[in-house]
Amino acid sequence: MLNLASLTELLAQPQKIVITTHHKPDGDAMGSSLGLYNYLIQQGHHVRVIAPTDYPRYLSWMPGNDEVIVYTDHAKEAAGLISGAKIIFCLDFNALNRINEMGELVGKSSAVKIMIDHHLEPQDFDDYRYWDINACATAQLVYTFIVEQLGNRKLVNKDVATCLYTGIMTDSASFCLPNTTSDVHRITAELIDAGAVNWRIYDLVYNNSPENRLRFLGLCLSERLEVLYEYNTAIIVVSKKDLEKYGIATGETEGIVNYALSISGIRLAAFIVERQDKVKLSLRSKGEIPANDICRKYFNGGGHYNAAGGTSGDSLDKVVNQFKLILPEYKNLLIK
Ligand code: 5GP
Ligand code: MN
Repeated sequence: MLNLASLTELLAQPQKIVITTHHKPDGDAMGSSLGLYNYLIQQGHHVRVIAPTDYPRYLSWMPGNDEVIVYTDHAKEAAGLISGAKIIFCLDFNALNRINEMGELVGKSSAVKIMIDHHLEPQDFDDYRYWDINACATAQLVYTFIVEQLGNRKLVNKDVATCLYTGIMTDSASFCLPNTTSDVHRITAELIDAGAVNWRIYDLVYNNSPENRLRFLGLCLSERLEVLYEYNTAIIVVSKKDLEKYGIATGETEGIVNYALSISGIRLAAFIVERQDKVKLSLRSKGEIPANDICRKYFNGGGHYNAAGGTSGDSLDKVVNQFKLILPEYKNLLIK
């Protein structure tokens, strides 16, 4: 493990740096990565952000986005950058399987690996860890890493602030989740002072859907939603055919699960979607219902206590049935 003094010394000279984040990057993944990118380039570092897979249009407008490499589109170039890097920042994930095939490349690289993350149960592959499960977003940690650990508040410019604001806004569900503390609001205020235009960022992220996404949402709500009142649970089940019919790209299903949780009295919501070669589950819960426990135990996944995900190699029908069969185990918590 590296200490802060050695890390600061390392960052005092221009270095070849790779920043990466989890596959299917969300707002926090891209916001923290590009926030850190816009900070580091001011110090003369040679920095590239590598996303393991692509990400939706509503996240493709942040400053520095044109410099991002998507691994699945440019594997050879990305592999070269990873093997040549002196420092690799791993943001918003803490297990190498979250970056798919890139995990092996990062694992065997001799670079100094810095993990900045807020998920449970970190795997030991890093040399320096800035990790706090109470943080509402990795972007919040990138901010305190820059300001408190590195003491460089003056380098939080408009570009850095815009990206970090996006990460905090999206991961806190627009400042609505319980981990949106007064500290988070203070940081957010500092980001606005540094140039982040809060209303414009909201508009770019949330009012930037193609028409087909909205029509698909209509299908989900009117035809694909099932409410299991005896378990205070609601599920939305979507087939590959649905995705194809509406031309839904990866990332465009993000957030739909929250509509199921918005029904009065519902404490557990699942969005179950048939992807190319597997079924993906997104779970959201309220209070003591451990969404991550359910995903870890039954669907090879994990995540946060109230927001988690997993996958299964079984058919869509089978996964839906399996999910329903699990509910009695959690009945006491669900009907509380
Ligand atoms: P989402 O439902 O948005 O895909 O994921 C919700 C949360 O669960 C995210 O914080 C994400 O990191 C985590 N998560 C999603 N899928 C998986 C998975 O397959 N494995 C693990 N460990 N975490 C996951
Ligand atoms: Mn996050």
